[in-house]
Amino acid sequence: MGNKISNPNNISNTNNTNNGTSSASISDVEKKSPPPLVSNGKNRKIFWIIISLVAALIIAAVIIVIILVKKDKNIDKATKLNNNITSEETKKSNQESNKLMQESDEEKNKKSGTLHSSFCGTSKLKMKPKTLNLTKLNNMDSTSSSSSYGPISIGVDFNSFKQPSKMSSSIFSKIRKIILETANEFRKFLQIKHQNIPLIDSDKKVFLEGCNLNTIGSNFKNYLTLYDLIIFPTFDNLGDYTLAAAGACVFTGNSDKPRPVGGVLYINTKLNFEKTNTDLYMKSVLFHEMTHVLVFEPELMRVLNIVKKEGSNYYISSSVVLNAIKKHFGCNSVTKFYLENQGGEGTLGAHWESRYMLGDYMVSTAYPGAVMSDITLALFDATGYYRTMHYSGGLFKFGKNKGCDFLEQKCIEDTKPISDEFCVLPDEPKCSSARNMKLSCYIIDYSNYGIKIPEKYQYFDNNYLGGFSYADYCPVALEDHADDDYFNYSCNVGTSTLASEYGETIGYDSLCFMSSLLPSSSSKIETTGPICYKVKCNSKYKNYDVQIGSRSITCPTNGGSMSDPYFKGNILCQKYDDVCQSDNDVVCSEMFDCFTKLAKNDGYSYGVNNIEEYEEIIKCCEKGSKINYKFTNLLLLMIYILFIL
Ligand SMILES: [Zn+2]
Repeated sequence: MGNKISNPNNISNTNNTNNGTSSASISDVEKKSPPPLVSNGKNRKIFWIIISLVAALIIAAVIIVIILVKKDKNIDKATKLNNNITSEETKKSNQESNKLMQESDEEKNKKSGTLHSSFCGTSKLKMKPKTLNLTKLNNMDSTSSSSSYGPISIGVDFNSFKQPSKMSSSIFSKIRKIILETANEFRKFLQIKHQNIPLIDSDKKVFLEGCNLNTIGSNFKNYLTLYDLIIFPTFDNLGDYTLAAAGACVFTGNSDKPRPVGGVLYINTKLNFEKTNTDLYMKSVLFHEMTHVLVFEPELMRVLNIVKKEGSNYYISSSVVLNAIKKHFGCNSVTKFYLENQGGEGTLGAHWESRYMLGDYMVSTAYPGAVMSDITLALFDATGYYRTMHYSGGLFKFGKNKGCDFLEQKCIEDTKPISDEFCVLPDEPKCSSARNMKLSCYIIDYSNYGIKIPEKYQYFDNNYLGGFSYADYCPVALEDHADDDYFNYSCNVGTSTLASEYGETIGYDSLCFMSSLLPSSSSKIETTGPICYKVKCNSKYKNYDVQIGSRSITCPTNGGSMSDPYFKGNILCQKYDDVCQSDNDVVCSEMFDCFTKLAKNDGYSYGVNNIEEYEEIIKCCEKGSKINYKFTNLLLLMIYILFIL
């Protein structure tokens, strides 16, 4: 594959509109007095020439002012983004490289076909550290003079984002929009302290060849006046098993506390962008990739003392993250929490270990209905330069309060699952741990793919039977494979719905329950399975209503099996605290929807309310703006010539 980013078109020497120069010229225009009225016929010709010149000057001045006001408007918006923060700060209490990522065992995927796609792929990108001459960048102006925290501003440089020949214009523009929407999602929960810090010296060798930074040049500098981080997206052929790849390219700060300020994002042209729910699927993938740029990179985390390396493996050593881990699992004795120990460079250490963290969006594969855990939020916090609004919605429940045994024992002991996150019956229907997907137990015969399961991950008499390879071959709930749509079995956007008599509702307020409820009049025999029901939380009574068709059943605070005279069968209610937010009636079921709901519920303003506004800001630094700058210079030259005349 072409593993380099094609050159972003530089804004060579046309970067900043010089406000000083422009306003000086306008002053000159204003100082110029109109010529005296002349009645003498001989002077009439001169009079009209002067009048014409003055008229031309006024028109030129008006055009310049319009251009400058337009530019200021863009800058104002960016400033507004930063300023929103100050008021937020008082309102809220403080809760408290470079390699590209990638990939898992592509070879295994090839062999097993039915296994799941990898998220990222670095090996192909040949991202070896490269020393670059970044003198110009190091001399750049400061990124911002503000020292307060504010929603992170992620800019996107689309100069290398070219429409693939086989892609329609509508799909191309859709993906462009999804990239912007994804960048905007971070603003809802992530803040950053804007600082005057120079880019790291090039001799630290923290740059990647694939970032091709020598071609970014002054363009990058323009962006950094408005943004905390710039993403450079591009399409590339990443093969059949890799969805996307991304990694930080350039850093600011001290070498012992580098902060990414630029990163590349590769999107595989082979992805099918026309399936149902592509928008949400792509957003999930890109959200994962951008998180790699922001923080989840093993060497970056090692430098920041968040992880330590042991052999080829990495484990969490940061107390901030360890505390979140202890709290989530209910295990105070954790001292080392290992990251993904399988896969190649870019997967290993660059993702959560699926055995412990399945369902968090930073595991190495595209897990359906993935959510953000409080542990991932803590990872952002542990950098020291990000501050998170804790808007996870408590959706991540894999292993929650299951104690140290969950982390230390084998997932299957004596042929029994140690916890209901694991299973032993192939295809047994289950809800996902986040309760937003209808899934089934994944157990396959690896001998069909010529794969031998490592002895320590063998849980069955048949040593070739195993579960999800990235979860140490533990049998877990995964999505049935259906290639026609994304998120077929989602409670939020799913297309695979049950017959109406089951009373199922698909939507963003719906959650998955194990249920056998059917109307008493139904001729069907009740069998327990996952069903999506709409939920309404009652924070006042610490209970919640589950809507089944046109009726509802109230689930009590402590959960348990519930029935209703209208129905035969029963529903297994989860505890109130596992379904509802403790202090409000918001129902969280899907990660991005949860960010929005909780931010709004909190009165949290993140500056950009719609993607059109975001796009308008982006325009300031794209190619089009160069025309404006050049046009401005041309006008100034015209005015100068007129004065000389
Ligand atoms: Zn990844």
